[in-house]
Amino acid sequence: MNKPEEHRRRKRLRRKTGEAISDYDMIQEGDRVMVCVSGGKDSYAMLDLLLDLKKISPVRFDLVAVNLDQKQPGFPEDVLPGYLDKLGVEYLIVEKNTYRIVKEKVPDGKTMCGLCSRLRRGTLYETAQRIGATKIALGHHMDDLVETLFLNMFHGSRLKTMPPKLVSDDKKNIVIRPLVYCRERELATFAKQRDYPIIPCTLCGSQPNLERVRIKKMLAEWERDSPNRVVSVFKSMQRVTRSHMLDRDLYDFSALRAEHAACLDERDGAFDRGSSIAAL
Ligand code: SF4
Repeated sequence: MNKPEEHRRRKRLRRKTGEAISDYDMIQEGDRVMVCVSGGKDSYAMLDLLLDLKKISPVRFDLVAVNLDQKQPGFPEDVLPGYLDKLGVEYLIVEKNTYRIVKEKVPDGKTMCGLCSRLRRGTLYETAQRIGATKIALGHHMDDLVETLFLNMFHGSRLKTMPPKLVSDDKKNIVIRPLVYCRERELATFAKQRDYPIIPCTLCGSQPNLERVRIKKMLAEWERDSPNRVVSVFKSMQRVTRSHMLDRDLYDFSALRAEHAACLDERDGAFDRGSSIAAL
């Protein structure tokens, strides 16, 4: 294993995580952050990076790792406690047989992931309340957010993704996503270097979300032709020009008057030489 390379990658991922936390004001003084650890590469990396940041951050916060044992057949119960013991981090394993509920409710042959995720989310929210966590950290990364944007556009006709910070569905907690500036491929390489004891999410034999797989493939093909296209799409979500979209709830088109001075962003560049539309 190439240690200097692992060290560099860790440093880079830590910097990106720190930037995201700061840009979206994810963690404040005195927060108790519940880090959801599923046994997948992203959540292992998130825990490592947050532990690093806790050591160097001027903001004092606590971390508690939480894993939900959903009782899927074959779930290796000892893997996470063994790993977290070695890491020396405070942790809790929550046992809840959501697998049985999902099997009862979802007809054979149908994908179970939707209900499974909803039940998992509910249990994690309850747990956060019980342990006095003020933030719930989830390990979604940049590629997850871009895939979700396209999923919502293609299948929900909505321009939305998973935000870096939001109020939980039960309105009792704040969910944060510290890895939003990290690319999946970098997290995957880091996970290999760190040799995490990965537990697959497909233990239950459920099919992966086929639409997400299709979008992943589409994005991978785009990136073969235009490297970093995912980053461009991600950045565009950070720079929305409301006046140049069509959502009447976001922009008051009725109030628009000819004498209003447009800021640079809002100018009509459609006919400018070199503008993106003119260049098409
Ligand atoms: S693959 Fe299985 S464990 Fe993972 S979300 Fe889907 S149903 Fe749940």
